[in-house]
Amino acid sequence: MRYELEMKTLSTVISGEIKEEERRRKERAGVHLPCRITADGRVAVPVYGALRGYAEIALRANGEDVCDTGGKGTKGCGKCVLCDLYGSLGMRGRAMIDDLRSVENYDSVVKKVMHVKLDREKGNVSDALGAEEIQEGTVFTGNIVVLNPKARDTELINTGIEGINQFGLGGWLTRGRGRVELKIANVERKSWGALVEEARKKAKELLEKK
Ligand SMILES: [Zn+2]
Repeated sequence: MRYELEMKTLSTVISGEIKEEERRRKERAGVHLPCRITADGRVAVPVYGALRGYAEIALRANGEDVCDTGGKGTKGCGKCVLCDLYGSLGMRGRAMIDDLRSVENYDSVVKKVMHVKLDREKGNVSDALGAEEIQEGTVFTGNIVVLNPKARDTELINTGIEGINQFGLGGWLTRGRGRVELKIANVERKSWGALVEEARKKAKELLEKK
């Protein structure tokens, strides 16, 4: 089952780079919170953690027995519905979740901003923090592919999506960043038989070229 995701930012979004080398390079250029850029110049925003995290909180609050994978060193119980969908250490999940990618290029959707910290007593600038902010109205797309889909998958994914829409994505949520509108734009079901058929067709084309 392939879920096509579509997201539009409603506020600026701060979503971090994870590659250490890249972080250090940007830091030297005065950017302490860089965003993540793909090899072909788009902005990438990971959603896996937020999707799973909000679903864990919501389901637990609703009385369901699902584990908490947010703590340091937590591995996932391997038994609950979320481990079944998203996996746990030692057991692959059924869901493969892409980072969302901006439709437009990095240059046109990200602005470098400077956040200043003011000394509470004297009112002078005591510190400055450079950040790359994804601008409002930026459109992202991405896919979640779920192997051997089960009846409740769509609901579980949507619980995470609702959490993201209510509470936000990325950093500085308490400062009004990270407001987004995320939705499943399309669902496509494909059988293993169709995959075999496609592979057969491609193989035939390759051999006919010779
Ligand atoms: Zn679990």
